[in-house]
Amino acid sequence: MSHSHDSGGLAERARELDGGDPLAQYRSLFVGTEDGNEVLSYLDGNSLGRPLRRTAEDVRRFAEEEWGGRLIRGWDEKWLAEPFVLGDRLAEACLGAAAGQTAIADSTTVNLYKLIRAAVGMAGAERTEIVVDTDNFPTDRYIVEGIAAERSLSVRWIDADPATGVTTAQAADAITERTAVVVLSHVAYRSGYIADAPAITALAHEAGALIVWDLCHSVGAVPVELDAWGADFAAGCTYKYLNGGPGAPAFAYVASRHQEAFRQPIEGWMGRREAFEMAHGYEPAEGIRRFMSGTPPIFGMLPLRGMLELIEEAGIGAIRAKSVALTEFAVEAHRELLEPLGVSLASPADAAVRGGHVILEHPAFRGLTQVLWDGGVIPDFRAPQGLRLGLSPLSTSFAETLRGIEAIRSALVSTQTLAAR
Ligand SMILES: *Cc1c(COP(=O)(O)O)cnc(C)c1O
Repeated sequence: MSHSHDSGGLAERARELDGGDPLAQYRSLFVGTEDGNEVLSYLDGNSLGRPLRRTAEDVRRFAEEEWGGRLIRGWDEKWLAEPFVLGDRLAEACLGAAAGQTAIADSTTVNLYKLIRAAVGMAGAERTEIVVDTDNFPTDRYIVEGIAAERSLSVRWIDADPATGVTTAQAADAITERTAVVVLSHVAYRSGYIADAPAITALAHEAGALIVWDLCHSVGAVPVELDAWGADFAAGCTYKYLNGGPGAPAFAYVASRHQEAFRQPIEGWMGRREAFEMAHGYEPAEGIRRFMSGTPPIFGMLPLRGMLELIEEAGIGAIRAKSVALTEFAVEAHRELLEPLGVSLASPADAAVRGGHVILEHPAFRGLTQVLWDGGVIPDFRAPQGLRLGLSPLSTSFAETLRGIEAIRSALVSTQTLAAR
């Protein structure tokens, strides 16, 4: 039996797809995408996006001119407004949200805590349940459990199929007149399944409940329409498809109609009306500003300035189109190169309900991940046996995607050959 495989047809397809890709020119703007780089295939841009090349120069200029030159004057001149200026740009470019509802602040975890805790406080006393799904990202589940314990509420679990995600029918069963808040991910972090956010938001509202959407795996890859969905609250990362850098501050959305009643649990000075009066007693600021707690991490927002320019120029529609083409190509390459070796696709086969990543499963994947990383091919391992391939539309090429899948095939063939000896 021969282990060589003719993927010439796929290589030709990758060349064609890269040649016809209207966003192809953006790839070279990211660090590490040049030929000959040690990283042959980066398939984890949905966990930590690559930096833009301009980031190094932006940081230098910020240190020397904006921070070093303006010193404390920078706060009044620019930085105090920065969380909302960038929040509004993000809202327009990626979130389908009008201005005045989005802030850049804290981490996703902290933002989820503040939003869910505020939402619970806005629900009537007869509403004693928080609805969340068993396959939601761990931080979402832990935060919900913590708030439930703190407020003597119970958690109503939706038992999501890890290979798909939370269906509208499951949400309809779980959301009742006892529901205070529903907490779900728009794109499932493991399978990539896209939940029907408008339908589930409507279900929550029909039951009189509020909903918090986690957008970590959507923002910058899958279009979001928070205002049109009628969403109440949302949060998400800026270091995944928004390439903000490790630990970059997150964002939070509070719909305008809720802002007056919104009281978040970390009432610090930056969320107070007329913060610089330093007055006695906390009174929430007007609008989205009341979401803030402490001094905003301006330095950490720097890469986001550059990335938003790129997304504004490329357009989220074109970005989604490339994202779909990338995952379609990955599925095609999987069918040809990996499926015959016993690998299965654990993401939706239908691109309409699949986000920007795909997950493949095989019992040997746990042991293979380090081998792949050592060889410059970087997917993510997800226990117990998943390899998650994140295909960041602005920085990933079709050829890079194929290199990664070919490397997975070679590594798998080697282990199977060893096992057969
Ligand atoms: C990545 C991710 C998070 C991360 O939260 P942090 O506070 O940044 O660690 C939260 N939720 C989902 C769905 C994620 O994918």
